[in-house]
Amino acid sequence: MYPLQTTNVMSEQADVIVVGGGSTGCGVVRDLARRGLDAVLVEKGNLTHGTTGRMHGLLHSGGRYAVSDRKSARECIEENRVLREIAGHCVEETGGMFVKRPEDSEEYFREKLEGCRACDIPAEVIDGEEARRREPYLARDVEKAIAVPDHAVDPFRLCVANAADAREHGARIETHAEVTDVLIEDGRVTGVEVEHDTGPGKRVHQQPGTTEEIRARYVVNATGAWAGQLGEMAGVDVEVRPSKGVMTVMNVRQVDTVINRCRPKGDADIVVPHETACILGTTDEEVEDPEDYPEEEWEVDMMIETLSELVPALKDARTLRSFWGVRPLYEPPGTGTDDPTDITRDYFLLDHDERDDLPGMTSIVGGKLTTYRMMAESISDHVCEKLDHDAECDTADVPLPGSEDFSVLREYMDEFGLRSPVGRRSMQRLGSKADDVLKSVDPNPVVCECEGVTRAEVRHAIDEAGSDLNAVRLRTRASMGNCQGGFCTHRIASELTQEYPEPVVRDAEDELYQERWKGQRHALWGRQLSQAMLNHLLHATTMNRDGDPAGLDAGVDFSAFDAGSDAAGDPPGAGDGTDSAAAADGGRAETDGGVDGDR
Ligand SMILES: Cc1cc2nc3c(=O)[nH]c(=O)nc-3n(C[C@H](O)[C@H](O)[C@H](O)COP(=O)(O)OP(=O)(O)OC[C@H]3O[C@@H](n4cnc5c(N)ncnc54)[C@H](O)[C@@H]3O)c2cc1C
Repeated sequence: MYPLQTTNVMSEQADVIVVGGGSTGCGVVRDLARRGLDAVLVEKGNLTHGTTGRMHGLLHSGGRYAVSDRKSARECIEENRVLREIAGHCVEETGGMFVKRPEDSEEYFREKLEGCRACDIPAEVIDGEEARRREPYLARDVEKAIAVPDHAVDPFRLCVANAADAREHGARIETHAEVTDVLIEDGRVTGVEVEHDTGPGKRVHQQPGTTEEIRARYVVNATGAWAGQLGEMAGVDVEVRPSKGVMTVMNVRQVDTVINRCRPKGDADIVVPHETACILGTTDEEVEDPEDYPEEEWEVDMMIETLSELVPALKDARTLRSFWGVRPLYEPPGTGTDDPTDITRDYFLLDHDERDDLPGMTSIVGGKLTTYRMMAESISDHVCEKLDHDAECDTADVPLPGSEDFSVLREYMDEFGLRSPVGRRSMQRLGSKADDVLKSVDPNPVVCECEGVTRAEVRHAIDEAGSDLNAVRLRTRASMGNCQGGFCTHRIASELTQEYPEPVVRDAEDELYQERWKGQRHALWGRQLSQAMLNHLLHATTMNRDGDPAGLDAGVDFSAFDAGSDAAGDPPGAGDGTDSAAAADGGRAETDGGVDGDR
C-alpha cells in the first residue's frame, strides 16, 4: 500500500476493500490476504457488530435444512467438517438432536431422516429413553430423536481469528470505521470514504475521529443486512430482506447438546448450549430497517414457554438477557416470497458490473455463519478473476491462529497443572495461543469469576483492541456471565489505567456497563432482577458512579463528609462503634437477601 492524496487523514491505495466485519467480511479478508492481495477491512462497529454477534452460535450439521433446502444442507455439513478441522478452538463438539414430541408429525420425522441421509449428514435414530440418558432434562414425553453432528461455535473468536490471520498476511483491519460514501470515478467504483470513530488504528475513547478516503482496485460489499444501504451509496439496488429473530440467554447449560424440535418450521424450536449458558431461539419476522425494529417482551416469554415443552427446567431457570439479530436474507428480484421463513438461506454474489453496469464492486448477500468460509472462497475466486490475480484458496486446509496444534494444549495442561475450571476455560478460549498469553502476566488473578477470565487474557485483549472494553468482552467473555458485569466491570476497566488517562477509562467503563444493561432490560424478573438491583447499588451507590465528582466538573467538597464522632484523631467509627456496626449490618443484610450465593 502507498499513500495517495490527503483528506482529513492519509489516503491509501489497496487491491481490495472489504466492507463489513461480520463472519463473511472477516472470512473474505483472510482469504484475499492469504492469496497475496493487499486487502483492507472496514467495519463500523467492533468485529461481529452486526448479525454475526447476534446469532445462536450453532454450527449447523445441515439437519435443519435437510427437508426444505438440500443445497444449503449439503453446504452446511461440508463446512461443518472443515471448521472442526481449522477452527477447533472456536467449536465445541456438542452434538445435536432433532426431538419428536407426541404431537409432532411422524411423516416429517421420516422425511428429516431421509433428507439427512440424502445430504450425507450422519444421522442416528434413538428412542426417548436414550435421548434422556444423553440429555436428562429433556421432557418425559419426547418419543424419539435423530442425533446429528450439530455443534456450538463461538462467532466472536472465529471472526477475531480470521481477522488476525488476515493481518498476519498483511491486511489492514479497521474497526469503528464507517463507510459513508462509495467513490465512483469514470463510471467505476474506485474506493470508499470512511469515518473513523476514533483513530484510525486502535480505538481509544476521547481520541478524535478522522475521515479517510481509501482507494482500491475492487470493493466487496459484505455488509449483510446493511448491503442495501451500501448499494444505495453506489447508486445500485441490493434487495436484502432483513428478518429479525429473538434469542434468550439462560444462566446455565440446561442441556449439553443442541436440541432442535423436529417439526417443519415454527418459532422457538432450538436450544444451543453455549459456553456457560444456553441460548434459546428464535423467530423470523421481516423488518424494514436492520437497526430499528421493536424488541418485545412477548417474544422472550414465547421462547421460554414454548421451549419449556422440550426442556421443562427452562421454566424455572434464571434468564440472563435477551437480544435480537437480523438475517441478511436475499432473493433474486421477482421471486416475491411472502413468508420470510420460506426465503432461501443460500448466498448470492451480485456483480454490479453485470447487473448494474457499475464495475469495481460486488455484493455478497444471504448465507449463514456456518458457510462463511465457503462464501468467502467464492467471492475471493470472483475478485481474483476480476483482478486477473492467479492464486489458489487454502483456507479450508490451514488452521486459524489458535487452532494450529491441539496436542500442544494437552501438554500445556499437564505441564502447568491447569486442570482447574479457570485454566480449562482459558485453554478453550485461547487454544494454542494459551501458553504465550497466560505466561505474559504475573501474578495472574481471575478478573471475571463468572466466566473464569484472568488478568492476562484481559490485558492481551486490551493490547489488541485499545480502550474498547466491549471488544475485550467479545475476545474474552469477561462480563458475559451471571453477574453481567456487576462485579467485574470496574476490575476490567482498572486494567486500562496503566496505559490510558482516567477520563478514557471512565468512558470505556460506562460504555461496557451500558452495553451489559441493554440486554438485561428484557430479563428483569426473579434472580436476575435481584442481580440488576445489586449491580445498580454497587455501581451507583457504593462506587457513586451516577454522582461521580469526576464527571461533574467540580472539585470534591471534603468538608461535606462526616468527620466522625471524634474528629480530632480517631478513625471514623472508632468512637462508640455505632457507625461501623450499622454499616456492617446493612452490608450483611444486603448479601443475605441478595444473590451472592447464586452467582
Ligand atoms: C436470530 C438469528 C440466528 C442465527 N443463528 C445462526 C446459527 O445458529 N448458525 C448459523 O450458521 N447462522 C445463523 N444465523 C445467520 C448468521 O448469523 C448470518 O448469516 C451471518 O452472521 C451474517 O454474517 P455477515 O458477515 O454476512 O453479516 P453481519 O454479521 O451483519 O456483518 C455485516 C457487517 O457490516 C457492518 N456494516 C454495515 N454497514 C456498514 C458501513 N456503512 N460501514 C462499515 N461497516 C458496515 C455491520 O456493522 C456488520 O458488522 C442466524 C441469524 C439470525 C438473525
